[in-house]
Order: sequence, then C-alpha cells, then structure tokens
Amino acid sequence: MIQMHKILIFIKTLFIFSFLTLVTQIGGACYLLYKLLYNYLPIPSEIKSKRISRYLSFLLIYLLFTLLIVPQIAPLNGRTALPLWASIQTPIQPHNMMTCLLNRHYVDLELEKVAMDIALPLNRTYSELYLTYLDANFPFWDGFPLLPHLSHNDGKKLDISFIYQNKDQQEWLDGNPSFWGYGFVEPPQKGESQQGMKCAKKGHWQYNLLTHLVWEKPSPNIIWDPIPNKHLLKLMVNHPKINKIFIEPHLKERMGLTKVQKVRFQGCHSVRHDDHIHLQL
Ligand SMILES: [Zn+2]
Repeated sequence: MIQMHKILIFIKTLFIFSFLTLVTQIGGACYLLYKLLYNYLPIPSEIKSKRISRYLSFLLIYLLFTLLIVPQIAPLNGRTALPLWASIQTPIQPHNMMTCLLNRHYVDLELEKVAMDIALPLNRTYSELYLTYLDANFPFWDGFPLLPHLSHNDGKKLDISFIYQNKDQQEWLDGNPSFWGYGFVEPPQKGESQQGMKCAKKGHWQYNLLTHLVWEKPSPNIIWDPIPNKHLLKLMVNHPKINKIFIEPHLKERMGLTKVQKVRFQGCHSVRHDDHIHLQL
C-alpha cells in the first residue's frame, strides 16, 4: 500500500513537472526546488492552510526566478527579455502580461535589435503606436519549442500584433481585440484568396482552429487598419536581417506585397496568419 502511494506521488510530481516545463520552461525546475525547500521556508504563522502556504511558496520561488534571476542569466544563452512595457526609448510592449509571466518573451540579441529598428520608426510616424508582441521564445535551450508554435525554438522567431482602430473613438487599440492576441482574424474580402477554405478542404482541421478559441465578439467598430499595417509590414520587409514574414495570402495581396519574396504563406500544416504577423531572422 505504501509502495502504491509512493508511485502515485511520483506520477503526480512527474505530471506537474512536465506540464510546468512545457508551458513556462523554468516552471518544472522551480517546482522541484519548491519541493526541496518547502520545509525550510519561513512560512508566516498567520497562514493556517497548508495548501495555501504550499501554493504561495511555489509562486514566490517561480516569480523570483521569472522576474529577477532568469532575465539576468538568459543573455549567457544569447537571449534577452523583450520590454515589459513601452516607453519613448523602447516603444515595444507585450499584448498580454501573461506572455512575460510565462517566460515566453525571450529573443535572440539580434532579434531584439531588429524589433527596436521596427518599433522606433513606427512610433515616430504614429506617436500613439507601440510595437505589440505576442509569443516569442523561451529563455534557454535551442530546439525547445514554445508550444503550440513548434518553430519558436531558437530565439529567432517573434509574433507581432496587427494594428486595429476603434472607429467610434478614432483611436488605435492598445494591442489586439483578442485577450490572448490570437484568433481575431481579418478575413478575406470578395475577390481575395480564400486560403482558410482551401486548407480546410484539404483536411487541415487545425488551420482555422484559433478563430473558435476567441470568446470576444467582433465589434463592427473595431477595424483592421490598412494604412499603419502597411507601414508596419514595409518596415519589416525593408529590414535586411528579417528573413521570412508569414501572413495570409489575402493580406499580402491587399497590402500590395505579392512580389515580395520574404512575405510568405506558412503552409496548411500551420494555423492561419491573418490574426498576427510571424517574423523570423
Ligand atoms: Zn510565430
């Protein structure tokens, strides 16, 4: 019976370790550290519940690593954290702070420079606009994928939000209408390529999946704004260090980029890219 109990504890630990590692990369290691240190941590006597004190202990260790230690040691691996909030000097911001709390905002040192090269002229032209990033990469280990993006595994990939306008207030949204930043698509108009339909017909069920995972109702007042989006794409296209940019074929057509080779279709095996821009060195 005791043997069985030990096996169950081992399976539970392995499951939590694997889950936290897959979602945050360092979370699994923080969990093991918490298991080792828990009995030595100074838990305030006011916290009567053992369960709450355990959760708080893990959270404390995780946040200590996420906010203080990992940003200092990731550059040893050639990666750096993108800014947590925008300023005049660094007009780059996360769409959702969860991206940073889950350690999904790390990029190669060169990609950080590229992001600045795009963000600064964007902000000079449209002073209210910041370059808004979605998922980037984890801080360590080339080849470790940032699920569900299999290719975000080397610090050289970055997802960027398109620019949206609130027609009523005549102002740009601070980021993206979707909470997670994905799934709020700008669909093809009449006469444009219907890539989503083509991929679905070929049996790629996952291609349009993210559109079903958005709970916000699209408001007719929120529009995908062609002018600043075209400006943003041009800044990316003209940057010599950017090798590939993935957007949906109909947006490529709409922005007059059909002859630009580095703007590509990512393939039906992926998900649609009319809700965000993927760029890579
Ligand atoms: Zn991507």
